[in-house]
Amino acid sequence: MTIQHSPARPSARDFPIVIVGAGMAAYALARELRKRDRDTPLLLVTADAGTVYAKPLLSNALAAGRDAGQLASAGAAEMAAVLDITILSHTRVTGIDTAACAIDTTQGRIGYGRLVLALGAGARRPQLQGDAAHDVIAVGHLDDYALLRRRLDALGRPAHIAILGAGLAGCEFAEDFAAAGHRVTLVDPARRLLAQLVPPPLSLALLRAWRALPIAVRQGHAQAVQRAGDLLRLQLDDGSMLDADLVLAAIGSRPNAALAREAGLATARGILVDGYGRASAPGVYALGDCAEYESGAGTLLRPGVAALQAAARALAATLCGTLTPIEDEPVLTLKSPLCPIAVCAPAPGTHGEWQLAHEDQRSIARFVDDGGVLRGFALTRPAPALRRALMAQLDRAVAVA
Ligand SMILES: Cc1cc2nc3c(=O)[nH]c(=O)nc-3n(C[C@H](O)[C@H](O)[C@H](O)COP(=O)(O)OP(=O)(O)OC[C@H]3O[C@@H](n4cnc5c(N)ncnc54)[C@H](O)[C@@H]3O)c2cc1C
Repeated sequence: MTIQHSPARPSARDFPIVIVGAGMAAYALARELRKRDRDTPLLLVTADAGTVYAKPLLSNALAAGRDAGQLASAGAAEMAAVLDITILSHTRVTGIDTAACAIDTTQGRIGYGRLVLALGAGARRPQLQGDAAHDVIAVGHLDDYALLRRRLDALGRPAHIAILGAGLAGCEFAEDFAAAGHRVTLVDPARRLLAQLVPPPLSLALLRAWRALPIAVRQGHAQAVQRAGDLLRLQLDDGSMLDADLVLAAIGSRPNAALAREAGLATARGILVDGYGRASAPGVYALGDCAEYESGAGTLLRPGVAALQAAARALAATLCGTLTPIEDEPVLTLKSPLCPIAVCAPAPGTHGEWQLAHEDQRSIARFVDDGGVLRGFALTRPAPALRRALMAQLDRAVAVA
């Protein structure tokens, strides 16, 4: 990808910085920009209501008894006033014209001086046969959590919830639902929890921590889901059936890159950006879950809150005139009250092995490549100092282009 350094248009300052999206990335950038510059007009355009909420809380909210309204910390109007920006909510961007420096929206065409795409990622839905495929819930947004709560409230009794996917989100939901009094069956093609992120001893540590909770783990691949009276009947690939009141999909997310792709911007899984957050057209940037970073070893998605906050800080500086590289923030944490686990997964395709150690009642797994270099780690009961020490040893080979 060739990055052009010229401004989007000669008179960029006469037009607003337009941020598309109103998730944590968009609002983090708007806040960082306003810390540096109170004057440049900022316009935030979003397909949703523009409600501010911490998305990671969605998988920890049920046991705490919090409904969707309680997770929302501010509305679009309040944010517009606090940050002195304009917010167009319920407005979908349908096209980007990089030559004319304009976006097309459901409210008409808007010119931009600089354009920042903070489009996030959509929760992946499983491809299931059967008449109840549309009843499967995927919680990737506050509105999905509100739907989940409505379904549970309508039952009026503890539910049996089948969760597809035993990754970070699936495991967090499982523990949260079980702690809230529901029964959970976690279904995953792998034989163990967090199989793509941690070595077997750490999967086992989590399973042991759940001993007293009503969580069953079942190996399998869901193929179909049918209505069976008031229940949903899952059919797994070994031919077995599983009846549940609710089925939740937690099988990951897919960066929202279609809009950028259709506009001719360079994309892979996400919108390709360099180490400064610049996309392939002048004056266009991306951050958050929709962005994919070019690195020395290939490209890298950087999901998660720490990564988007680092990107927002650097991008704000860049947009204000100081070209600033974005720091890599690769650690994600399983927010399990019983067994928190910090994970920095090695880049896919890295050759090496996990080396396990036990120190101070915690398990530490280091992923070391064939040359003896630390490429990833996972640890239970993560202490900030230890996490920092591991981060300092880490070599992720991320080059700033
Ligand atoms: C259940 C769950 C638990 C999580 N837990 C953690 C955790 O513990 N730690 C952690 O670091 N991360 C966690 N994450 C991930 C983290 O929440 C995300 O990385 C982060 O919220 C992404 O923010 P974003 O702003 O990039 O995207 P989003 O929040 O997805 O925002 C995208 C925005 O773009 C808007 N949009 C999309 N398309 C258009 C369009 N065409 N026109 C206009 N607007 C558009 C949407 O309406 C939305 O406002 C979790 C995620 C989930 C789902």
